[in-house]
Amino acid sequence: MEIACLDLEGVLIPEIWIAFAEKTGIEELKRTTRDEPNYDTLMQYRLNILDQHGLGINEIQEVIATLEPLPGAIEFVNWLRERFQVVILSDTFYQFAQPLMRQLGFPTLLCHNLEIADDGRVVNYHLRQANPKRQAIVGFKSLYYRTIAAGDSYNDTTMLAEADAGILFHAPDNVIAEFPQFPAVHNFDALKREFIKASNRELTL
Ligand SMILES: [Mg+2]
Repeated sequence: MEIACLDLEGVLIPEIWIAFAEKTGIEELKRTTRDEPNYDTLMQYRLNILDQHGLGINEIQEVIATLEPLPGAIEFVNWLRERFQVVILSDTFYQFAQPLMRQLGFPTLLCHNLEIADDGRVVNYHLRQANPKRQAIVGFKSLYYRTIAAGDSYNDTTMLAEADAGILFHAPDNVIAEFPQFPAVHNFDALKREFIKASNRELTL
């Protein structure tokens, strides 16, 4: 059997921090893993800025409640789930993802947790484990599943490398240039074809 592993932000939903930055007008929050490959550095930077502006989980969730999955994402997830067991491997947080996961039909999600104070302040974050996306693939392989993974950014590349097949989707030019070993596609039809190509079964569109 085969498991399809998908990144979330930039693949199925917009970048939550960017949407939040646009809504609040805080330009510094537009940095993502595309700009800063070190995730801990990026998160400490984000939490400091939230504190400086007195923004907590309630303000953030107000913005997330207005977001929708990317065009075509719901149909793609439904298509994929008819053909694979689907697991979302994300560096987002359960507290952020919930309203969007509802729109996607609640596929399995492995991601991180935020630590929230009683007053709503985001005081810390807790990663599920080190190198979580790659480790999930290692775990599925130990269960003798074939894995096919797709993602858009630096934090996906160890997952793509560990998987039996890795696919770049919606990736920026610098990531595509740095990782030429992965096929790179930019729309859901092409992504479906890559999953069919990577599968060891006879699948159709
Ligand atoms: Mg992403």
